Amino acid sequence: MQRRSFIKKTTASGIALALVPSITLAQDIDVEYSILELMGKSDVKLYGKGINLRKEAHDAFIEMKRAAYTGGIDLKIVSSYRSFDRQQVIFENKFIKYTDAGMAPLDAISKIIEYSTIPGTSRHHWGTDIDVIDGYQKVSGDVLVPSKYGEGQPFADFKKWMDENSEKFGFYLVYTDDKKRRGFKYEPWHYSYAPISIPMLETFRSKNLLQIYKDEDFLGSEHFTSGFLRTYITDNVLDINSKLL
Ligand SMILES: [Zn+2]
Repeated sequence: MQRRSFIKKTTASGIALALVPSITLAQDIDVEYSILELMGKSDVKLYGKGINLRKEAHDAFIEMKRAAYTGGIDLKIVSSYRSFDRQQVIFENKFIKYTDAGMAPLDAISKIIEYSTIPGTSRHHWGTDIDVIDGYQKVSGDVLVPSKYGEGQPFADFKKWMDENSEKFGFYLVYTDDKKRRGFKYEPWHYSYAPISIPMLETFRSKNLLQIYKDEDFLGSEHFTSGFLRTYITDNVLDINSKLL
């Protein structure tokens, strides 16, 4: 008995020690990323024409793009950095469209957050995330449609190449095709540069978002109850590819 409890204690302190580096890291990051920056409300230095990513993410993307060419794929960014103001326009336009069509405000918000985020919570605010397609494919209509990435579809080869290679360059799919996942639907085009976005998410989730959203004022925001926000954070912000947590 004596020995067993000793082993248990040793294991427990081993775990505690193993946690120390990440705690230190979180404190450093907290200084580096402000809440304004995380919510797309401050100017971020972005790199690359038509790329618009933070330096490290930009450089990794260029390397991935070069490699993809050899596989016959032209990685083309459809969307990358987006400010709070831009996200607010997207959100409010959809809110007006759905409520004008007769939807109740909460139903309209539920519909919006199938694919679009609440302003201030978009990963596109971070300068680490991209919506990317294969520029070689001539596709009519909207390119950000999951069915176009399936077997025999225009972006099937793109998807296969990304599945096999993107993680080598630090880019991970965020909204995976996992039936058990809640929150945003499957987005085979949305990738995140993990070396920066993981610490950014860690900082973001440490903030008191319920308090922050009490002071936000945009069309529809008056309908955000704390219960709604809590579920949104759990499902839409945090129920993502576990490799990005
Ligand atoms: Zn996206």
